[in-house]
Amino acid sequence: MKFEVTLPDWAIAENQKLPDHFTTLEDRMAAVIRFAELNLANDTGGPFAAGVFEIQTGKCVIIGVNRVVPSSMSSAHAEIVTITLAQQILKTFDLGGPDMPEHQLVVNARPCAMCFGSIPWSGVRSVVVGASGQQVEKITGFDEGPIHPQWQQELRNRGIEVVEDVLHDEALKVFHRFHDTGQPIYNGRTGG
Ligand SMILES: [Zn+2]
Repeated sequence: MKFEVTLPDWAIAENQKLPDHFTTLEDRMAAVIRFAELNLANDTGGPFAAGVFEIQTGKCVIIGVNRVVPSSMSSAHAEIVTITLAQQILKTFDLGGPDMPEHQLVVNARPCAMCFGSIPWSGVRSVVVGASGQQVEKITGFDEGPIHPQWQQELRNRGIEVVEDVLHDEALKVFHRFHDTGQPIYNGRTGG
């Protein structure tokens, strides 16, 4: 028994075409937002993408996308897919391990409760968010769960930098487009 999540073919091809290094946070976020747009346009998952980069050099390890619906897997959020792929590529469960460059997770929307929980375990030392706040939930209807109200401080307490609202408006455009398509919102049981 095993489970497997794969990137769609277009995302594998796009990863191979990426520049080796992304100097600024805006450059990194723009690439992630583009993957979210392409995931929506290709109907290969939800409108979410994430990238793992080396903080100092801007070297891209991988950019991944949400694969919940195509994988029949509620945990296949962009952050989980991307962190896991980066760990598989670098052959370590800890992206903050000794003798490694520090790594950064760049994501187009604020992490949900599950993905927030995955961040400290991943070993990344920095999280960069595009559309923060609750606008994404309002626009799309996705339930991001009971994230800790001081989630940024909880990460900072563990030595993880948090940068919010990088290319905020560009990030939000993808969610408006998602809303306009009328595609399914794949929330599981939300109770109530
Ligand atoms: Zn999530």
